[in-house]
Amino acid sequence: YAESLASSQPTFEPMAAALAAPFTLVDEILHTLTLATLSQHKPDLVLLSVPFPGALYAALRIAQTIKAQNPHITIALGGGFVNTELRELAEPRLFDLVDFVTLDSGERPLLALMEYLQRKRSKQRLVRTFVRESPHPNPLPEGEGADAGTVRYINFVEPEVPFEEVGTPTWDGLPLDRYLSLLDMLNPMHRLWSDGRWNKLTVAHGCYWKKCSFCDVSLDYISRYETASAATLADRIETIVSETGQTGFHFVDEAAPPKALKALADELISRQLPISWWGNIRFEKTFTPELCQLLADSGCIAMSGGLEVASDRLLTLMKKGVTVEQVARVTKGFSDAGILVHAYLMYGFPTQTVQDTVDALEYVRQLFENGCIQSGFFHRFSCTVHSPVGLDPAAYGIELIPLPPVTFAKNDIGFIDPSGVDHDALGVGLRKAIYNYMHGIGLDEDVRAWFSHLPGKVPKPTVGRNRIAKALAQPA
Ligand code: SF4
Repeated sequence: YAESLASSQPTFEPMAAALAAPFTLVDEILHTLTLATLSQHKPDLVLLSVPFPGALYAALRIAQTIKAQNPHITIALGGGFVNTELRELAEPRLFDLVDFVTLDSGERPLLALMEYLQRKRSKQRLVRTFVRESPHPNPLPEGEGADAGTVRYINFVEPEVPFEEVGTPTWDGLPLDRYLSLLDMLNPMHRLWSDGRWNKLTVAHGCYWKKCSFCDVSLDYISRYETASAATLADRIETIVSETGQTGFHFVDEAAPPKALKALADELISRQLPISWWGNIRFEKTFTPELCQLLADSGCIAMSGGLEVASDRLLTLMKKGVTVEQVARVTKGFSDAGILVHAYLMYGFPTQTVQDTVDALEYVRQLFENGCIQSGFFHRFSCTVHSPVGLDPAAYGIELIPLPPVTFAKNDIGFIDPSGVDHDALGVGLRKAIYNYMHGIGLDEDVRAWFSHLPGKVPKPTVGRNRIAKALAQPA
């Protein structure tokens, strides 16, 4: 899982060096599996989807094996990592391994690509696709180096395939009975991610909110919001259950829309479809206790959502559209309906002070104590070039550190926050606290105890110890 070779790597150099190195044990296994798959399917076209930076190395090892075995097999690369980080791709050497690199939702680019490969469409009419223009046909004069060609981006504009019509995902041909289930934590909510296999589906394309200032709201996977009818979603669910024989679903939306979830719950109940499902949402007030109960009745077992920095000042700055007390009420509604709740938490947001961090942890402690959330994870804020913070850093009081020339991956960007807080040191305490809270430990301790490793005095929380309990006692 060689994330550092790809994540925000301005040049292809480290990846090229790794790919030129002798096989590791894992590479050998992958090589053998790739050859077996090639001889089973005998493909003309292979599509490699790379969801995260850490998956790129393995994808390119697969491509290496395929090209060595049969250079006439066409390979296209796409997926979340590509869509986020390779938007300014200018590295011709990548095309020694793959023939095409496509951006954003794959349906339209792939339909266009397949027509091109069948000679039914010209190259100029490819959609959101990087290609390599051939290297110089004649050898260059000695001393001028190799001509690897140049990368060209072709985007013949055509309408997207509507979300209503994208069809049903399939796992056909995969040995699902051999899926590896990992139990990395006893916390019943936290273990959902890796303990067991879930059918993955989205309720919508994109995010209906698309405002959070740390999020990639300028990219298609967030900004293009499209829904499908509840009947279509339920049909997809029925098809997947009959294909896989499994009834657990993970809705992998960035933020599933409440209206669509309600309609889907009604549809699941009226069809008497017995599934278990969980998903990711915004903790917004539309999720009333009644709606939480309806979702539970339709099979919802867990919800995750962003509380980010539990501070109303910072939630406003990040345009999250929620307040801490609102999150408390919504999460309590889910918990009371028997739905487990996980909170995504953040630290190190621009202008976040030590006091903000201590107060945020105090809020989180109280949310656990009052049974609003059962699980959480602290992520360090990272500034990406596609987010409102990265696009307008001055508005958030920070200064970006200029990037070197980029020919390969571009995403995270360093920044200077004049507040000068040592977030690394605070992060150690936050992670220790949340790990203990998830096991029901330390909930009555003063939150400052988690920061005892820091030099100097840590400020007292300014949040009253019963603030969340009081908020929950008030009518919504
Ligand atoms: S962080 Fe989540 S809710 Fe906010 S814009 Fe991004 S996807 Fe939407």
